[in-house]
Amino acid sequence: MQCDRCRRRAVIFQRYSGLHLCEQHFVADVEAKAKHAIRTHRWMRSGDHIAVALSGGKDSSALLYFLTMLTAQRRDITLSAITVDEGITGYRDPKQAIRIAESLGIGCLTASFRDEYGITVDEIVAKKGDACSCSYCGVLRRSLINRIAREHGVTKLALGFNLDDEAQSVLMNVLRGDADRLLRRQREIDGMVPRIRPFLYIPEREVALYAQLHVAGIGLGRCPYAHNALRADVRAVLNDYTLRHPSTKYALVNIGKRLADTGGAVQDGIRTCETCGEPCGVTCRSCQILREVFGSAA
Ligand SMILES: [Zn+2]
Ligand SMILES: [Zn+2]
Repeated sequence: MQCDRCRRRAVIFQRYSGLHLCEQHFVADVEAKAKHAIRTHRWMRSGDHIAVALSGGKDSSALLYFLTMLTAQRRDITLSAITVDEGITGYRDPKQAIRIAESLGIGCLTASFRDEYGITVDEIVAKKGDACSCSYCGVLRRSLINRIAREHGVTKLALGFNLDDEAQSVLMNVLRGDADRLLRRQREIDGMVPRIRPFLYIPEREVALYAQLHVAGIGLGRCPYAHNALRADVRAVLNDYTLRHPSTKYALVNIGKRLADTGGAVQDGIRTCETCGEPCGVTCRSCQILREVFGSAA
């Protein structure tokens, strides 16, 4: 197959655009979409310190590469990476993320569940089983990344979320009947570093190919404790449906954004946790999880 723009050999077919693209035109297309997302959401400003939450997997590694290129000539923007070791044997090797950041010449801030919380995800699973491990791990990781970012003067936290992640989240909220979450507007909360998602409109398989073309040494593993049944179902349904209706994921992401923009429901009662100092709701989820894990002692 030939590229529809230049007749070189195509590396991908985009069903939703009907285009075959060569490597050069594919990369240009991905980067144009990411830049467009940054522009329309006003995600980058002079003086920003942007930190990529870097897992060492394809999405966050591709994002770090993209932002490194994008900001290479910008002396008014600082770029770094943050990596957190949750303590999951055979899955998370923090050295991998650090190596990727180093290969791009970007400094990597690191932290671990062991040092911060005194317990690893492996140990949490040993105590509590792995039924809740994903939500526990997610809450604790977000809280820790936010703290590191804030303490280092980070003004934007960049997440490697892609189109598929976001479309799945919107559909999951619909299927759970969670109107609050659909109508909740992102707003600035004291102590919470604003998040940006430059790959929001790029399909997962394109982020994967972009990563493969640009970054060496990416981790391919899946977390051994990851089995979110609803997300796995929604992912399968959406991928199957998208074969016949190629713009479905874009439609979901767009309606998610429209609902959030027009709904304007704001989270009430955001305060600073007296125990951990992080912004939280009525109860602090991270501290609640740590109490559950350690018993009442913590
Ligand atoms: Zn081409
Ligand atoms: Zn707390």
